[in-house]
Amino acid sequence: MSIAPTWSEFKTYVAEIGPGRGRPARPGQCVCCEGARVWFNGWRLVWITLRVEGQPQRPAEGLPLQRVRCARRTCGRSWTLRPPWLYPHRSLEPDVAEAAALVYLLDPAATYVSVAPAFQCSWVTVWRWVGWVAALATPGALLARVARVAPRGAVPALLPRAVPAAARARSPERVRRVLQAAHVLAALTHLHRAQPEPPPDPSALRWFLVGECRFSGVWDPACSKAWDPREPLPLRDALGL
Ligand SMILES: [Zn+2]
Repeated sequence: MSIAPTWSEFKTYVAEIGPGRGRPARPGQCVCCEGARVWFNGWRLVWITLRVEGQPQRPAEGLPLQRVRCARRTCGRSWTLRPPWLYPHRSLEPDVAEAAALVYLLDPAATYVSVAPAFQCSWVTVWRWVGWVAALATPGALLARVARVAPRGAVPALLPRAVPAAARARSPERVRRVLQAAHVLAALTHLHRAQPEPPPDPSALRWFLVGECRFSGVWDPACSKAWDPREPLPLRDALGL
């Protein structure tokens, strides 16, 4: 396992940013109205899980995130400044979700309950992660992107026809969901590997999400300007857009 690049960035962040320490750079403009005055507006504490040397770590003291607010009265939008490595979905670190989902989907002996302790989360979280991954993207659309960067790499046979988790699913709907999750992760892995320049991020899911969001420390789910409108709706739904 490689060391997640987020770990050193995380340590630098907590050393420098927080109440009584320092603030991140003030945004140059509002994410919604593009007004040029943005005020700092308090802190928000979140609890996150990071993957360090293959092991999930959950800092007990949490992570302070700076809140900011648009100075324009007619706008008044407030949002949270996140470091680029912190993905905003329910305090989820996508590389942890990716690893947990893969274990659940591909290990014939795995159950939600058996997978959860290894990732320091509840079984419900593993269950949610699998559903979340399934809704992230359309495997066919991802394979089409593989085909664009590596024309001979994208054939549907690359996607698993069956996964152990499908045999354990209790409803046809869940069978469809776990298969879709496995297809999304497989297609993302192909897309990650097909890049002409190997991505520095070893997590295919996180690499994909960061690329999709193109967020740069500023994130507001209500602001969809950074999104390609052709992106399938489930991705937006999963992110609360
Ligand atoms: Zn504004």
